[in-house]
Amino acid sequence: MTGGGRGLGRAIALALAAEGLAVAVAARSLDQLESTAREVRGRGGSALDVPLDVTDPASIATALATVAARLGPVDVLVNNAGIAESAPFSKTTPEMWARHLDINATGPYRLTRAVLSGMLERGWGRVVNIASMAGLHGAPYVAAYTASKHALVGLIHELAYELAPAVRVNGVAPGPIETDLRGPAALGMADRSIGSIDLSTNAAPNVPLGKVPATADYAGGYVFLASRRDARPATGAVLNLDSGIGVRGIGRTAGGARLAAKYAPDQG
Ligand code: NDP
Repeated sequence: MTGGGRGLGRAIALALAAEGLAVAVAARSLDQLESTAREVRGRGGSALDVPLDVTDPASIATALATVAARLGPVDVLVNNAGIAESAPFSKTTPEMWARHLDINATGPYRLTRAVLSGMLERGWGRVVNIASMAGLHGAPYVAAYTASKHALVGLIHELAYELAPAVRVNGVAPGPIETDLRGPAALGMADRSIGSIDLSTNAAPNVPLGKVPATADYAGGYVFLASRRDARPATGAVLNLDSGIGVRGIGRTAGGARLAAKYAPDQG
């Protein structure tokens, strides 16, 4: 899987390893990858840390050769690596735009192409992409991120059609999660909040589920889509794991609020 040294990817790596998969975690920060691999092994699982930059085809080829030699062929590819930076659209530079597309959309394209022939030869493969709520809806001040995740969702839908039935291509669209992605160095949200969601406490009064889940809470969705048996009918699916944020739009209109006030007391 790409990423895996920290954040959501780390939780996914631990969850996949707990299901018995040998997991290769691949990104640029080797100390973080080593830490995840150590934790997997400490829990009795099998893990390998591999240096990888998803923007560099030579690095992808070297990483995949290492994985093949040490763990065997890649049956499940998890495209998790991603970046997010915020800016008003008028300040979204060509470099920022290109960087997001390169890592968040072209990265999964490169990795999927690189493992595909082996999956097709073996007649079996799973590709699980980490999309985002911003890949399904508009999100203000993250134009480059939003466009890159929409591109990834488009790729999921196209590949699901083209690669069926041997290779299933799916994705997960999480809502906001407290990771480095949202910190000052990346998205730039120094106050750790988004709208009415306070990421320091995970309290989210306007979110139907009432709080934002932790990384480990998402992991089951990825395990489901990676599994040999559980997600058999799924291809082209983008699991909406956003705590109900995507559906709150109607609920927040004046009419929605009036109906909520009228009916909520009846719901116990
Ligand atoms: P983190 O910043 O914690 O993790 C990002 C991961 O991507 C790191 O392991 C990082 O490793 C890796 N990465 C970034 N650039 C590259 C690159 N060029 N080559 C290889 N690896 C790279 O963020 P999250 O855990 O939050 O993000 C994981 C995924 O989840 C992303 O795709 C993100 O868009 C998505 N997501 C996150 C949400 C959130 O609210 N946090 C919400 C919805 C989706 P390194 O820097 O060492 O290379």
